[in-house]
Amino acid sequence: MKINNRETINQVDQKVLLMGWVHVVRKMGKIVFVDLRDRSGLVQVVLVPSELDERSAEIIKDIKPEYVLAIEGRVQTRGAKQINQDLLTGTVEVLATSVTILAEAATPPFEIDNEDRQANEELRLKYRYLDLRHERMKKNIVTRHQIIRAMREFFYQNDFLEIETPFLSKSTPEGARDFLVPSRNYPGKFYALPQSPQQYKQMLMVAGLEKYFQIVRCFRDEDQRGDRQAEFTQLDVEMSFVEQADVLSLMEKMIMAVLAKIKPGIKITFPRMTYKVAMEKYNSDKPDIRQDKNNPEEYAFLWVTDFPMFEYKAGDRRWGATHHPFTSVNPEDLPLLEKGELESIRALQYDLVLNGNEVAGGSIRTHNPEILHKVFEVLGHSDKEIQAKFGHLLEAFKYGVPPHGGIAFGLDRLVAILCGEVSIREVMAFPKTSDNRDPLMDSPAAVEPEQLAELGLKIKK
Ligand code: ASP
Repeated sequence: MKINNRETINQVDQKVLLMGWVHVVRKMGKIVFVDLRDRSGLVQVVLVPSELDERSAEIIKDIKPEYVLAIEGRVQTRGAKQINQDLLTGTVEVLATSVTILAEAATPPFEIDNEDRQANEELRLKYRYLDLRHERMKKNIVTRHQIIRAMREFFYQNDFLEIETPFLSKSTPEGARDFLVPSRNYPGKFYALPQSPQQYKQMLMVAGLEKYFQIVRCFRDEDQRGDRQAEFTQLDVEMSFVEQADVLSLMEKMIMAVLAKIKPGIKITFPRMTYKVAMEKYNSDKPDIRQDKNNPEEYAFLWVTDFPMFEYKAGDRRWGATHHPFTSVNPEDLPLLEKGELESIRALQYDLVLNGNEVAGGSIRTHNPEILHKVFEVLGHSDKEIQAKFGHLLEAFKYGVPPHGGIAFGLDRLVAILCGEVSIREVMAFPKTSDNRDPLMDSPAAVEPEQLAELGLKIKK
């Protein structure tokens, strides 16, 4: 097995086997210098014909950028003048005794060694596997992994169960349009891809599983609006027998555990502010409370609480739920629900804001089926609609539902901010363009007429 390039600094005078990509190749007369790249980083390899076996000496003239090589050689310390402070392995180099070309490479459509953004996004996404070779992109992917890992470890330690919920599901009311999946077995019927696992996680609480989390893909068929993706990842959490304060304090601990791993030593606090104060003071429900907005290493978290339960959707001329209908009305405001004074009703809803971005949102849920029914009514659903859309949840709630609440983090946004990136696309391995296309796989794409026929579908021209 090869060793990581980065390991070479601990292998001085040892024989090593390296494998990786040619980051840069410099030919100086008969001697060839290669900066060999693998996931761990770069190391300089020196190819001198007199040190190489005959076969190897023959091929070094052919080496080009992005070729994949296997190098056998000996690690040696560099002379004082040759030390490269910018390189992790800058104190050593590998004097090769053998080199094998494992794969040749065409000239990439953009430079790999010379980061970046000079290529337009369409091209970067079409050749995403090359774009991900950029140091910055690799770092983002690694940081994302570290964040997810720290989250998982935190939840495991705190006795949570990681549970998967279905993707082939039914329309859920999170406020966006659903992606529909036609059913072949039931022509004319459709699954919907979940906008979030909201109802499933609440049913897991009815099931008695008490503490659930999942790192889960969610799907929302929204029109192009800001930096969003049709499919995105949430850290989804639900807990039984908790109050709002319990959820908030546990999530603070989770964030601190994550930051301890990826930004050790950084100091953060979690001030709280009601929605009313936020609107009065900042005219925003996600105020950016950083002292200095140009300081990239400042992480200003803020809980915004006491959101209004309902908001008037002027376009639709009806009341909607600010968060979602499963959110609990603040018990102090229940009389207002009876009186129909909807605009003054506060919900047990909370958002976590980071540097002016909403990174999480959640609520304590209504677990009283009558109040839940009342909320659906206020939202303008007829009895028939309530049965069709939410009957399963109301039914479940008849069988002993614990008080429960939860939260979901927009993982892509959180990772982007912690990576110092403006767009969530920079922290997703294979994002779509901002207008929902995938230039790499070329999707969405037409399908064969037979596939449509099987599904009982016809495309209107
Ligand atoms: N399901 C909600 C959302 O996706 C979050 C929650 O209430 O837990 O925004």
